[in-house]
Amino acid sequence: MALSESSVKDNSSLERRVISVEISPKCNLRCPECNVGKRLHVNSNERRNDPELVKKIIEHVPYNSTLLFVGLGEPTIPYSQERIGKILHSREDLKGYIQTNGSYPLKEELEGLIKQGRLEVGLSLDQQHFIGGQKKLRIQPEYVESISTIVTDEETQSKMPQGFPNLNRILITPLLVGKKIANSWERLSETVVAYQGISNGVTIYTELPPPVREDNIKLFEEAERDLEPLTPEGWRKSKEHGFYVDMEPTTPRNSMRILIDGNYINIPILAEGSWQEVDKYSKPLTDLPKVFDLEIGRYE
Ligand code: SF4
Repeated sequence: MALSESSVKDNSSLERRVISVEISPKCNLRCPECNVGKRLHVNSNERRNDPELVKKIIEHVPYNSTLLFVGLGEPTIPYSQERIGKILHSREDLKGYIQTNGSYPLKEELEGLIKQGRLEVGLSLDQQHFIGGQKKLRIQPEYVESISTIVTDEETQSKMPQGFPNLNRILITPLLVGKKIANSWERLSETVVAYQGISNGVTIYTELPPPVREDNIKLFEEAERDLEPLTPEGWRKSKEHGFYVDMEPTTPRNSMRILIDGNYINIPILAEGSWQEVDKYSKPLTDLPKVFDLEIGRYE
């Protein structure tokens, strides 16, 4: 049964949040630069999937949040699609966003949520995923609204993905090896411009993550010379070519990640430490105040 606003109990004063959620305990691909590989590509008996995760999210995720189902694992494996459907049907105040490698078709339940405007789908489509085993896309292309691609300097050929009728934006991300950006700014901006030239009303943009600025000073300074000043929304715009660059620092008040083991962590802490140190900083999701007056066990 879905819940109404009137049943909000004691954390309605928390502001709307965007929360990353590790909803899936595994991934079907093996991408070489996967930054969570050491937590993800382990034997099934080492995986730390909390069987109560859905119930904890329904009970404790702050009211009116947007949940980004972006990993640890692949959020469209059937098991995880069921979890996403259960969460969004139980909490009508929440919205969802799935970032997928496109290996699985979306189930009818999720299709319904997309049609209601409560769920959006982004597809990761690039050489890294291809090397990791992404061969045939099985996701329905009409549900894909955005595509993200990771580029290396060797990948000079820019091809617009075809056959996505509702595609409205493409994010071109530089390749990160540890904290080092493997591209030059020149090549990154050339790639964005090449995509711009062949796009048909699709917004093309790129990103430079502030947490790695110190490790890539030269590249950031080159970029900043080419860009207009930062807007309050955290965007910069290319002076010459007009494309946008996302350089928004992640702020502690609206950044949180829910982990597959039923804990949560603030993203700025993650940026400072390695993925192997997550356990040092995470806290149980059940430490957060309950949102709704739920009966235990009702949703599992
Ligand atoms: S699809 Fe994503 S989570 Fe899976 S291996 Fe590739 S980068 Fe890692």
